[in-house]
Formats: sequence, structure tokens, C-alpha cells
Amino acid sequence: MNTMEESSVNELVETTGHAGSEWLSRYSSSLMNVFGTPQRVLVRGAGCLVWDADGKEYLDLLGGIAVNALGHAHPFVTSVIASQLATLGHVSNFFTSPTQVALAEKLLELAHAPAGSKVFFSNSGTEANEAAFKLARRNSGDGPVKRTRIIALEGAFHGRTMGALALTAKEAYRAPFEPLPGGVVHIPFGDIAALEAAVDDTVAAVFLEPIQGEAGVRPLPPGYLKAAREATSNVGALLILDEVQTGIGRTGKWFASEDAGIVPDAITLAKGLGGGFPIGAMITFGEQTSSLLSAGQHGTTFGGNPVATAAALATLHALESQNVLANAAAVGEHLRSALAAIAGVTEVRGEGLLIGFDLDADVAPAVVQAGLDAGFIVNSPGPRTIRLAPPLILTTAQADTFLSAFPAILQAAKDAQ
Ligand SMILES: *Cc1c(COP(=O)(O)O)cnc(C)c1O
Repeated sequence: MNTMEESSVNELVETTGHAGSEWLSRYSSSLMNVFGTPQRVLVRGAGCLVWDADGKEYLDLLGGIAVNALGHAHPFVTSVIASQLATLGHVSNFFTSPTQVALAEKLLELAHAPAGSKVFFSNSGTEANEAAFKLARRNSGDGPVKRTRIIALEGAFHGRTMGALALTAKEAYRAPFEPLPGGVVHIPFGDIAALEAAVDDTVAAVFLEPIQGEAGVRPLPPGYLKAAREATSNVGALLILDEVQTGIGRTGKWFASEDAGIVPDAITLAKGLGGGFPIGAMITFGEQTSSLLSAGQHGTTFGGNPVATAAALATLHALESQNVLANAAAVGEHLRSALAAIAGVTEVRGEGLLIGFDLDADVAPAVVQAGLDAGFIVNSPGPRTIRLAPPLILTTAQADTFLSAFPAILQAAKDAQ
């Protein structure tokens, strides 16, 4: 290539013609081993399907962990991203751009946010929660007792950077990196009395996932969010909802918390927001909360970049105009009721297309392997729990191919033990 004109990635990396095993051996020589060995080498996707380097096809029931809301290579999202990139790709936050402003306005509209509400853009879920952590630190209050404590729940997952990790409960993720930012207390999951006892005038914020995703798709019990709103309002603490996994249509609603009858102080978003393009956001509700962070107190180079915000605008537009949330609700309901009737499935949880189900034996990792062999991508957040978070455009017919294959996948997993 002696001119730098239009090209494709294939001129830089030979994406076809190499076996998966060859890429995996190059991977292990060049990539840091924090993720373990990748399950497959994926080279192409279209809708809910992906293909690996050896040409095998899979139905993607994980969607990049609740990210690919519109599946892979969605033509509308792809063309909007390409056109924005070809017009203006990046500016610093010394400047703004029309897509950034329009996306902030759209998120405030979808969240029914009152006057004075604002948006901060990040590049990931953990960064959205870092922003929320800093917001909580700024809510220390001006009374004689400073609000320095933050409440989170057992089982919580809020990310892997130091602040978000302090909010995350899992000991194996935390312990190697202590000391973490101080003041975070984890209380028992879903226990309203424990919450009311913990929230006093030393608490700056309560962080909650409406449905805990990484813990195996565990919804908070009915009434919990309302009780949390009352307890936090009484003492001036912030109620911060981590909807990084549950937001943007995942549960068949724009926000999993939207029917709880409360207005939170902040919602964090990421995963599905960019339809596969990296972007995160924190929405702060009302003038008082939104002004806790002032000019110079937080920032990011890439956050709210024109391409990322165009990708999110395109994703929201496609979700809305194609009635995708109603599809997620209907196909999710169908999957849950059919899964509950399969022998060996002991409990089914979730909402929309965020689904967790338990098995009658500790074979979930083997189910993931047997699923891949049978052409289905699923995930095991626990030893006997399977999680599905497919593209929200999954059809009933596609769901049915998995449902009819699942008994044999489960049997193969048990045989492999
Ligand atoms: C995935 C996730 C995060 C972290 O998001 P990253 O983009 O991986 O940093 C935070 N909170 C919840 C609830 C998540 O599911």
C-alpha cells in the first residue's frame, strides 16, 4: 500500500486463513493473562450470530455481556458511526459537539429527569461509577457530622478501578489491591431492615444495582428501592443506581428502576448505551446533586467523544423506532417460562433479556463449554448459574433453537463432569 486511501482491516491483519488455535497461541504470548484463556477467536458478526476463526457459527446469547443491544454490525449504527468518524472524530473537552449535547438531552428525556438534571460522559461502566463515587465524596455535608460512609450491598459489582472496586463486594477481586478508598460498608442483600439500620447521618451515598448482574441476576425485592429512597432522603444521603448492566432497554424498559416510583440522585450507565461502541454516562437528578461536582473537579480525555455519542444516539434511535424494548420484554418472558419447564433447571430470574437460571448441579462452566460445542454463547456467573444477556433483537425463533438444544447441552455438561 503506497497511498493512505480507503482500506480495510484485512490489509493490516489477515483476519481469515489462520486457525483459532494459532491466534490463541499468539494471544498467550502477547496478551496479559487477566482474562484467562479466551473461549473462541471471533472474526465476524451479523445480528445475533457470530463466527469464529475456524468458520463455526454461534447464536450469541451473551451479547458481549449485555453490550450488543442491537446485535453485531447493525447497519444503521455502523453507518452513523462511520459518517461521524469521517466528519469529526475527536475533540477535547475544551470543546463540545452537537452529538454530545443531543445525547445528553436524549438521556435526560428518557430518564424523565427534572429541571437542573445533568449528564457526565465516561468511556466505561467503572468510570461512570468513579464519577458517582466522587459525587458521593462531595456530598460530605456542611453540618457538624461529616458524611463519609458509603453503603453498598453484598454481591455488588460496580467495576474494577480502585473506587468502583471499593464498592464491589467480592473478596477475591478486592483483597489483592487493598488498601482501597475507605468508608465503604457492604450490608446484606435485599434486607430492608439492615439498610434502614445502616443509613444514618454519616452516610454520603447508597449504591444499588436494581438487579445484581454479576451475582447471577438477582433482583432487589419489591419495595427495596422505595425504602432506600426514604432512608437516604431522611439523612441527606444520595441514592445512586448502577444501571450499567440493567439500563438502556435490557429489562424491556429504558431503566430497570423506572417502575419503582422513585427519583434517584444519580444513575450510571454503560454496557448497552453505545450498541457495542465504548461509552458510559452518569445522570445526576436535580440542580442540587448536579452541582456537587464543579468545574475542574472531574474530567476525562475521551469521555463524550463525537463518535461515541453518535454511536449512542444511533443505538437509542434504533431501539426506539424499531420497538426493540417490547421485543426484549416478550422474548425474555418466553425464554423464562420455557426455561422453568426444563428438567434440571431449578430457578429462573430476571427481567426482559437479562436472565439468570440455576441448575440442579455445579455444572455451569461445563454448560458454557457444551453450549459452545453446540453453537450457543452463554455465561456462568456462578458454579450452578447460567446468565443470558443476548441482543435485544433476539427473535422467538432464535430463542427456541436454544430452548430445544438446552436439555442435550445440560446432559453433555453432566457427562463431561
Ligand atoms: C459491567 C458492570 C460494571 C463495570 O463496567 P465496565 O465497563 O466493565 O467498567 C459496573 N457495574 C455493573 C452493574 C456492571 O454490570
